[in-house]
Amino acid sequence: MALRFFNTYSRELEEFEPRDPAARTIGIYTCGPTVYSHAHIGNFRAYIFEDLLQRHLELRGYKAHRVMNITDVDDKTIRGAREAKVPLARFTEQFKQAFFEDVETLRIKRADEFPAATDQRYTDRMIEMIGALIARGLAYQADDKSVYFRINKFPNYGKLAHFDLSQLQSTGRVKHDEYDKEHIGDFALWKAWDEEDGDVKWDSPWGPGRPGWHIECSAMATALLGDQIDIHCGGVDNIFPHHEAEIAQSEGVTGKKFVRYWLHCAHLLVDGQKMAKSLGNFYTVPDVLAKGYTGRELRYALLRVHYRVPLNFTWEGMHEARESLGRIDEWLTRLREIAQEENVQRSTSNAQSPIEKSDFENSLDDDLNISAALGFLFESIRETNRAMDENKLDAASAKAWLDWWKRINTVLDLEADVEIMIPTEVAQLAKERENARREKNWERSDELRDQISALGWEVRDTKDRPKLTRRGAE
Ligand code: AMP
Ligand code: ZN
Repeated sequence: MALRFFNTYSRELEEFEPRDPAARTIGIYTCGPTVYSHAHIGNFRAYIFEDLLQRHLELRGYKAHRVMNITDVDDKTIRGAREAKVPLARFTEQFKQAFFEDVETLRIKRADEFPAATDQRYTDRMIEMIGALIARGLAYQADDKSVYFRINKFPNYGKLAHFDLSQLQSTGRVKHDEYDKEHIGDFALWKAWDEEDGDVKWDSPWGPGRPGWHIECSAMATALLGDQIDIHCGGVDNIFPHHEAEIAQSEGVTGKKFVRYWLHCAHLLVDGQKMAKSLGNFYTVPDVLAKGYTGRELRYALLRVHYRVPLNFTWEGMHEARESLGRIDEWLTRLREIAQEENVQRSTSNAQSPIEKSDFENSLDDDLNISAALGFLFESIRETNRAMDENKLDAASAKAWLDWWKRINTVLDLEADVEIMIPTEVAQLAKERENARREKNWERSDELRDQISALGWEVRDTKDRPKLTRRGAE
């Protein structure tokens, strides 16, 4: 099956055709964090979906050139710095650092570039773009000295959000970065300085001020990826007004189609509501770690549902993530044991070889259908476990499965950091239990099983020998 994505612009599944098929390098722009607070795990659902996208493209032989911006000046960051009574740069720095730590914890591939909106290279570009929009009649300076985009001069305005263009009425002007669909209006490109901005200001042909949030992304995206981008991503809340504005600004300047494929992920929910800072219903990555879960478990919990399906965050879901990963860990341990065997005759190796299997990749080709891909992984685990239980998987097959895992794990990145170590105390009790069983002392054997269980481990008797797994990991 050809690679295809659901394009928000057309609201259709479209076959993926990169802008430059020969180069096989895909330009991807992903809206990054607004560093006015610690990013919450809802934000990380978006970043994990983008990570999945990049890794799958790479598995399919493309090279990704991914840019993720850092919004370090906007209404929210300025308000935060003012309330904390610290300079803007110092205020945002702590959240930038926290963001990069969380990216690492969740095993998200770092973008190739993380441009910051306050970098002069980009503020210069913003001013240049606003100048070009004014020159084309697409923008104007209003009485309040701010510069606004004139939406009724851009015929495609509203296409991404699928507004009825014939009904589109501007309600005037909006200076805020964020507003809802009831307040569609000419939006701010350049915000004239006012007292609330403190010392946050840049000189411009329109007087001192600062850029609007939307022009920041248009400037950074076109500066680093060129006038035309293959894929642009974000959460669904970015569609309007942010991405709608990005299209108007970028195409208004370049006259070229800005983005080929718009991909948006559905929200992470809590009790059916969007997880959001403003609603106070959010968890950060450190909050989840403090509950005893690992970054790998959270990665799995946020990754496992198709990106266009809303995902409800629950602690039960975290527990399920732990169990699923436990199944993968145990499967890998068993495969590794068999793969190391030499000269062991197995009756047959009738478990299917994974070499020809491409269901995992094919599922991801279908608009990143991770649920189907994981379903296939767990079905394969069940099949091979059965073969191993019956002594029907030989070393060559085990190696082939391990190679297959290595390939798909370039996308999943879900392998345990360290091989699971069995504590000596547990190993000793297991040995004693084996002796008791050999002597057919079932009472003693059961006693030892209970002791092992009290230490958090479980013994499973297989044909070969008893196997130990962490409790709750199956
Ligand atoms: P922000 O820091 O608010 O600009 O958001 C950064 C990214 O996280 C954007 O792509 C948002 O669309 C996305 N986002 C925000 N909240 C959620 C959520 N609850 N679920 C999924 N993505 C979200
Ligand atoms: Zn953006």
